Amino acid sequence: MDLRKMAEWIPDAAGFFYPRRCPVCQEAVEQQGSRICGICRTKLSYVRQPFCQKCGKPLLLEEQEYCRDCRRKRHRFERGRAPLVYDRIMKSSIAAFKYGGRREYAAFYAEEILRRCAKDMSGWQGEVFVPIPLHPSRRRKRGFNQAELLARELSRRCGIPTDAGLLTRVKKTKAQKELNDQERLTNLKDAFSVRKGSVPYQNIILVDDIYTTGSTVDAAADALKEKGARKVYFVCICVGNGN
Ligand SMILES: [Zn+2]
Ligand SMILES: [Zn+2]
Repeated sequence: MDLRKMAEWIPDAAGFFYPRRCPVCQEAVEQQGSRICGICRTKLSYVRQPFCQKCGKPLLLEEQEYCRDCRRKRHRFERGRAPLVYDRIMKSSIAAFKYGGRREYAAFYAEEILRRCAKDMSGWQGEVFVPIPLHPSRRRKRGFNQAELLARELSRRCGIPTDAGLLTRVKKTKAQKELNDQERLTNLKDAFSVRKGSVPYQNIILVDDIYTTGSTVDAAADALKEKGARKVYFVCICVGNGN
């Protein structure tokens, strides 16, 4: 490599020494400056209209306002959005992010959230991002909290700060995916607690990786509202289907 070529590389020094991995195929991304292969981007399934006006899940019918879940449940949060549908591709992408050491995917996910959801988010007047915390023992085991990484990448790009110390997980809960709706609620009851005496914000945006039934977000919103938060919203990387 000649010097002129070398100079071109320097602005992206991190990308030079550690090539960015594609969040879909997990290979090094060839196109410099890009976080995803061109072909892999076409495989992503984005949430498009119509989607649930409460939780952002994609809907089949234009005339529906809310998904089945939001029609029968009273959620504790105001609204939420996610850019991507939780399908097979995103399942393996997020697994690599959480368990395979691919922390760099947080930047890609944050950019997708802002690219697709910033317009809705601007109406929420959120003062702070609060990542859904892991139980301290789980965090120690994993070495990081994926929701916190994501929140910090969002903060860097849109200026809303992250407060990762506000909410804490006081109860070691079972994996939600193994439980039914009712069990999920009991499982998460009092799972979160506010570390400070009261919440110093009015409008909060919770950050998590996946939204399915909303019981995690509801439990976190509950804890925050009990200590003075007025409105609680959420952003996630993916949502399940909502019909
Ligand atoms: Zn790829
Ligand atoms: Zn919904």
